[in-house]
Amino acid sequence: MMETVSRDLFDRVMVPNYSPMGTVPVHGSGSRIWDQNGKEYIDLSGGIAVNALGHCHAVLVQALVEQAQKLWHVSNIYTNEPALRLASELTQRTFADRVFFANSGAEANEAAFKLARRFGINTGGDAKYEIIAANKSFHGRSLFTVSVAGQRKYSEGFGPAIGGIRHVTFNDEVELEAAVSNATCAVVLEPILGESGVLPATLSYLQRARELCDKYGALLIFDEVQTGMGRLGSLFAYEHYGVVPDVMTIAKAIGGGFPLAAMLATDDAARHLSVGTHGSTFGGNPLACAVGEAALHYISQPDVLQGVTSRHTYLVSSLCELGKRHGLFEGVRGIGLLLGCVLTEPWKGRARELVEMFLSHGVMVLQAGPDVIRLAPSLVIEQGEIDEGLARLEAAAMLLSHVQRSTSENVEI
Ligand code: PLP
Repeated sequence: MMETVSRDLFDRVMVPNYSPMGTVPVHGSGSRIWDQNGKEYIDLSGGIAVNALGHCHAVLVQALVEQAQKLWHVSNIYTNEPALRLASELTQRTFADRVFFANSGAEANEAAFKLARRFGINTGGDAKYEIIAANKSFHGRSLFTVSVAGQRKYSEGFGPAIGGIRHVTFNDEVELEAAVSNATCAVVLEPILGESGVLPATLSYLQRARELCDKYGALLIFDEVQTGMGRLGSLFAYEHYGVVPDVMTIAKAIGGGFPLAAMLATDDAARHLSVGTHGSTFGGNPLACAVGEAALHYISQPDVLQGVTSRHTYLVSSLCELGKRHGLFEGVRGIGLLLGCVLTEPWKGRARELVEMFLSHGVMVLQAGPDVIRLAPSLVIEQGEIDEGLARLEAAAMLLSHVQRSTSENVEI
């Protein structure tokens, strides 16, 4: 007989690579989630920027159910209608001419990096394979993507990392200029460092990267896995900045919670992944692409994108005030609905602790490194849900500042 499904079971049957919270969510609607005990949470984390339309949005559910009754899978020996429609729409709405579908951000980046290597070697010879990436970036957990990201905590202990990758300080134009050369096949950047503290790129940094790629015949790759699909108030971050890449990777919100990712590329770049050079069994799966099509249509609506900007303004001013009242945040940064609340000195290094505390008060948030609380709520989160979430953060913050005060008073005694 099946034993009771609870958080404890995780420790016995799952590979211990995660350390999930004690609560097990079972049901979601809009920006509310309920756990096994019926406790309700306001979700300001959006499944780490995935649930762009909240939980179980009717439009996505309908697309999934309709496709589920038609065709689930055919393999890439054939193509399928939802994949072709979605690819066509993505090319119409972006700089890109071509699309490769995958199932996760790491896979989309893997495809982009392999494409960059092929591009470099085909256009500049065997020595043109170097990829320039930013320190503290994050591009996924495959060996190639952890090697490109260059954060030792993700790549250590797996034997030799993939070579031919050079790391530079994010937003440092001088370092970037010194690194790019004729040996460079690609510069890869997140427009906002998402996992490492919600740090937006400066416009001049991205512009400089574009110029250097043009000068040395390298591809500019934007990893928009976290920033894409409306999160910044434009459909993609590159539009917000007005700097156009040659290759862009997207994942997370494109499936609204259904696994789907894509690499988008210009014709000139894409032709280097010729027949047989790359592939995926599930990439371009009809179920995923049908949901992706519905998500793209919905998110592209002008009122949805404008709503991101108005929610940003309201949330940033409310969070700044809350942070100031309780000595918790020294500032709030980010664009659109990818926000980072930077912890004050006494709370630095304690982001995980705070995330747990907020959860116990019925609100889900994320951390972005040890010093930043990250919010990536649904793009269509309702005003009532925002206010309820803020009220719960306020209640938790009151308790935290009280604890902090009594601790420091005790120390003085
Ligand atoms: N790239 C960025 C910028 C991300 O934020 C993430 C995930 O957080 C990834 C890539 C990896 O995506 P996935 O976990 O779907 O492989």
